Amino acid sequence: MEIPFLDLKIPHRELEEELVQVFRDGLRNASFIGGMQVESFEKEFAQFCETQHCIAVNSGTDALRFALIAAGIGPGDEVITVPNTFIATTEAISQTGATPVFVDIDERTYNIDPNKLEDYLKNRLQPPASSLQPRPRAVLPVHLYGQPADMDSIQEIADRYGLMVIEDACQAHGALYHSKKDDQWKKAGSMGLASAFSFYPGKNLGACGEGGAVTTNDEGIAQKIRMLRDHGQAKKYYHEFEGYNGRLDAIQAGILRVKLRCLNEWNEKRRHNASLYTQLLLPYTLHSTPNTRHLSLITPHEPEWAKAVYHLYIIRTKKRDELQKYLSENGIHTGLHYPVPLHLQGAYANNGFKKGDFPVTEEVSSEILSLPMFPQLTEQQIRYVADNIKQFLKLRLDFNTQHVTRNTQYLTPKPL
Ligand SMILES: *Cc1c(COP(=O)(O)O)cnc(C)c1O
Repeated sequence: MEIPFLDLKIPHRELEEELVQVFRDGLRNASFIGGMQVESFEKEFAQFCETQHCIAVNSGTDALRFALIAAGIGPGDEVITVPNTFIATTEAISQTGATPVFVDIDERTYNIDPNKLEDYLKNRLQPPASSLQPRPRAVLPVHLYGQPADMDSIQEIADRYGLMVIEDACQAHGALYHSKKDDQWKKAGSMGLASAFSFYPGKNLGACGEGGAVTTNDEGIAQKIRMLRDHGQAKKYYHEFEGYNGRLDAIQAGILRVKLRCLNEWNEKRRHNASLYTQLLLPYTLHSTPNTRHLSLITPHEPEWAKAVYHLYIIRTKKRDELQKYLSENGIHTGLHYPVPLHLQGAYANNGFKKGDFPVTEEVSSEILSLPMFPQLTEQQIRYVADNIKQFLKLRLDFNTQHVTRNTQYLTPKPL
């Protein structure tokens, strides 16, 4: 059996008539930039995210950059994020003129660890930074793999230190976070001052090309981003400042409108697939005791305050490279998200980071493996993947379930 890591052909086959119609309408109306499709998509996506505004842009990277610029981030500012993310998060920070800095992640959720954020800020501000040093201005949590970060804790710390919170929701369309403070479930992308989404084809909501969006409840920020994406103009050829060409084109907006109608169903299917993987792998998921740590397989952990949308399904094992090779030999394609933490990338070689700076991220990056995950994955395919993982553990690790305590912390997934 051959199992792709991601199959983008199936949804496009299913929606082909509607998608081709969007393209045909675009051609016939010769309407490619802005217009009805873009405005309607913005309304519909804002509604989906439960925010007042959505501003459609060229990419998730633009969405991040524009959100930061519109929030007033620039030279002399520090923006705090995690080293376990895609480089677009930190590129966007640097490209505003600000400095990206990192705090380590939580070992179970793989997202920013609020305690480490607090520690960083405590140490960073004492003694008070000189006026020449960059000052922390914002925190940019990433809802990685479709799992929401712990937003109540992050917001509470940010409020105490006077920081803005901007969400990187590029992998988390539709993910939910239960805010204890407000006693309600909230959509990823509706909690920060502004939030960035990507519609790169492989994301949970993907265009047939590039695309992105910012969501916000702040009228001023929305206004500013509308101008930033369009050369700093609110009226054609009247430029209040230099902006960018960062618009979403009309055909992509039309395509996204068609796909948005399927997003809830697709996310439910991803959650169903994730729970099947977790159930099948459960007998091989071990407590991390010193004796069994080298054998253990760790499946994703969903805290009770989270409903993840499984952009990726990540397992963790010390034998990652061997397992990946074994799966590949058996026709199963997997991925690594991400193999090299950002602070150890060549791009940041001059930023003064060293190995050991962010130990959780570093350990995790050598152990994580992304299994095939997409809505149309079949039960048979999932069973085949799980069977192969079992086979590997038996063959290579002389695995014997009788010798180990089972992990009973598995939570059944809640409906979205
Ligand atoms: C995809 C992604 C981005 C960037 O989105 P593009 O549309 O590719 O520019 C940013 N952050 C994260 C976490 C992403 O996964």
